[in-house]
Amino acid sequence: MKPKVIIVGGGASGLAAGIQAARLGASVTMLEHTARPGKKLLSTGNGKCNLTNLAAPFGAYRGENPDFAKMVLETVSVPQTLEFFKGLGVVLTDRNGYVYPNTGQASSIADALMFEVDRLGITLICDCHVREIKRDLTLITSNGKMKGDAVILAAGSMAASKTGSDGSGYELAAALGHTVIKPLPALVQLKCREKWYKQAAGVRTEALVTLKINGKAVAEDRGELQFTDYGISGIPVFQVSRFACRALDKGQTVTAELDLLPSLDYKAAEELLADRVKRFAYRPAEEFLNGVLNQKLARILLNETGIAKMSKTGEIKPAQIKKLTAAIKGLETAVVSSNSFDQAQVCSGGVDTREVDPCTMESKLIKRLYFAGEILDVDGICGGYNLQWAWSSGILAGTYAGRENI
Ligand SMILES: Cc1cc2nc3c(=O)[nH]c(=O)nc-3n(C[C@H](O)[C@H](O)[C@H](O)COP(=O)(O)OP(=O)(O)OC[C@H]3O[C@@H](n4cnc5c(N)ncnc54)[C@H](O)[C@@H]3O)c2cc1C
Repeated sequence: MKPKVIIVGGGASGLAAGIQAARLGASVTMLEHTARPGKKLLSTGNGKCNLTNLAAPFGAYRGENPDFAKMVLETVSVPQTLEFFKGLGVVLTDRNGYVYPNTGQASSIADALMFEVDRLGITLICDCHVREIKRDLTLITSNGKMKGDAVILAAGSMAASKTGSDGSGYELAAALGHTVIKPLPALVQLKCREKWYKQAAGVRTEALVTLKINGKAVAEDRGELQFTDYGISGIPVFQVSRFACRALDKGQTVTAELDLLPSLDYKAAEELLADRVKRFAYRPAEEFLNGVLNQKLARILLNETGIAKMSKTGEIKPAQIKKLTAAIKGLETAVVSSNSFDQAQVCSGGVDTREVDPCTMESKLIKRLYFAGEILDVDGICGGYNLQWAWSSGILAGTYAGRENI
């Protein structure tokens, strides 16, 4: 018999799940508590939607049980996802492995999904908040009660709540007995203690960011670092931020080491600076780093090492060159907190994947309840990996929820 599948959440994973279940012949109803589905999709990739990545995905996922994501992505792979979108009429473009719609518009992805939702006759109910899911798969919603043969919980996380994901999905899962690993912001800016950030605000520079927890390096990433008046931002910061947030939550000491000249090793950097003392001895000392580092950063570092107070470059001492090299190659900053869930792109934490079958996405606690997307304890790095997770887990959940009742 054709199963009745109810999907909670009309985001990336819910849309993929609904389309897959309906293609298998299921009668699908999608409940979305905002006025329209796919709202978060519109802001992805700076409005361009980096929908997946061609680089080997398995190291890109974090969580208590990272093998879970690996198993799901082995079943619904990146090439299958590309075919899924090509089948919806989307021409894709590959920029060094980062895949976008050729239109450069995230709305093309949301629209292509919605055309398919319409074509398949999926019943979409917007402005419908799901308040409770009972163990017999009866849903209590703001629009009344309904019951499904299968339910897919695809309500997202707490990141960017203005797009609809307000964390209520976690409450629905917890009320059904699922363990929810504390959600925390990830892919987020970090707030730091030093006073000089006010001066550095606005600077963007290539850097290697190494995150340390209790003095031990746990993650690093290289790319464009952005200084703000409260701390650090940019892709390399986002990539390490989930470790910072989880460590701070445990009361651990978090620091970041910023290598502001990552193209040179330590020795080469020291030699470069020592050579400049000789070659540019006549220049004012406060201009010593002109052409090496951004001027605002240079001023801060020269102040920190006492060089700014000297009159001529030729007066700079070898010990000061050592100190300056150390500061440029490993500027240490104390991370005190992160920006909020609203500024985070995703959350770490979520429904414990050890309670979900990675072959089907079915709950191990409640029969015919499935999970998809960011509600689970799986977070990816920047670069299209989080949407890939939404597509793969959604398609897999839709495949099993949509199969005929046995
Ligand atoms: C600014 C920004 C940029 C991003 N850019 C990228 C990118 O370029 N590439 C990438 O891979 N990832 C990106 N991400 C992450 C990616 O968008 C998410 O990981 C992905 O959209 C999660 O999909 P989801 O379906 O799990 O959750 P969501 O997309 O959050 O969907 C959940 C849906 O459920 C609804 N809902 C929640 N609770 C209820 C309820 N109780 N009743 C009814 N409906 C409910 C919500 O309104 C929402 O529509 C970005 C995120 C942000 C915020």
